[in-house]
Amino acid sequence: MIVMKFGGTSVEDAKAIDRAASIVRERLPQKPVVVVSAMAKVTDTLLKMAKAAGEGKRDAAMELSRGLRERHYNCTGELLGTGVFTRFHGELEAEFDALDELLRGIAAVGELTPRTTDLVASYGELLSSRLVSEAFQARGIAAAHVDSRECIVTDANHMKAAPLFDETNEQLGHTLKPLLDRNQVPVMGGFIGSTRGGVTTTIGRGGSDFSAAIVGAALGAAAIEIWTDVDGMLTTDPHFCPDARRIRVISFDEAAELAYFGAKVLHPATVLPAIQKNIPVWILNSRNPACEGTKITTRAPHCRNMFKAIAAKKRITIVNVAAPRMLLAHGFLKSIFEAFDRHRVPIDVVSTSEVSVSLTIDSNEAIPALAADLAKIADVKYEGRKAIVCLVGESLRETPGLAARVFGELSDLKVRMISQGASEINLTFVIEEEDVPGVVQRLHRTFFSELDPAVFA
Ligand code: ASP
Ligand code: MG
Repeated sequence: MIVMKFGGTSVEDAKAIDRAASIVRERLPQKPVVVVSAMAKVTDTLLKMAKAAGEGKRDAAMELSRGLRERHYNCTGELLGTGVFTRFHGELEAEFDALDELLRGIAAVGELTPRTTDLVASYGELLSSRLVSEAFQARGIAAAHVDSRECIVTDANHMKAAPLFDETNEQLGHTLKPLLDRNQVPVMGGFIGSTRGGVTTTIGRGGSDFSAAIVGAALGAAAIEIWTDVDGMLTTDPHFCPDARRIRVISFDEAAELAYFGAKVLHPATVLPAIQKNIPVWILNSRNPACEGTKITTRAPHCRNMFKAIAAKKRITIVNVAAPRMLLAHGFLKSIFEAFDRHRVPIDVVSTSEVSVSLTIDSNEAIPALAADLAKIADVKYEGRKAIVCLVGESLRETPGLAARVFGELSDLKVRMISQGASEINLTFVIEEEDVPGVVQRLHRTFFSELDPAVFA
């Protein structure tokens, strides 16, 4: 069997769901289980209305709910023939009435708990999965709707619940295997689950990829397909470099290094359950299904190119911390990191010398408070408008003279920080923000002008 996960934009309207049906039909011999996100932007809207209700703004919440209701009704009308439409419209109506009831309750109490937030948020995937299942049936696919809350068992850490794998795997096998044996196509919502006691939970924003990986790992899928709206992962950002090329195959570790720069596609950590079981994960474009996409594998195949990708991130600030009068004493780094931790500012790149430390951060709001705190223990300077450039590739491990080649290429450039070795597969450095397009173009030309056809399209 395989898992086919359709993200929000791949089920955003009737046209998208129709395309998804055609894509699934092609894969029927592979016995797909379909996992869907809420229609695009629906989760955002649900969270907004929950928040409004929690603040006692009942009318605002109901207004948002009315908008969603209409969108789902319209989509259903376009997808289903009259007979089915009448029955299913009634079912949708009941769901939206229940949602409104819930919102009125939240508004009356004037308090929104994480547990209630999950209940509201769950409507996105509940509705999309039922709608997709009906639409598939109407298109001759033997779809069977499965309520994910009966399979994905989680702890009670609402809004970011963790799956209890033993129970979940058992439930998934129990529920899905008989359907697959009868050549049915299970259709289930991502993102949602429930506690042992049956309370609805969600597993974190963007969690449908995680759901797909959990299902695939539980059933020993031959592949997991993440259907989205791009052709896959690219050698670099095409905004900087129009000749960026598609990466055919990338290792999990490489994809994880790149996630920080372009998490738009998918965060590899969410597919870890699949990778641990050696199940390949494909990123595919539902608007261009003929494109073979990007395959993420546990181990990278040999690649003749030194790098798989170049990523860049702007809006970086360097924080230079110098220990006053003393060399880096025992505990100095600890106290610096603690200050960052207190202000919840994540650190990206670090480089140290005997007497100072440079760190990069990508958020600016917390800087004044952090600065005041750091000033108590050290001399601190800030430099804004910097950028991180990162080169990633498994071949870095065994390539000598690599830094020389990269920086030789950039010999006229002011490089502010360098970091290599932390992961063995990435070389990271910090430059001025305005240098990014030029640097990325030069490096791309140098390292990607000849491409290993097994790895790049
Ligand atoms: N609909 C959820 C979200 O927007 C889960 C997902 O789409 O992955 O976060
Ligand atoms: Mg997503």
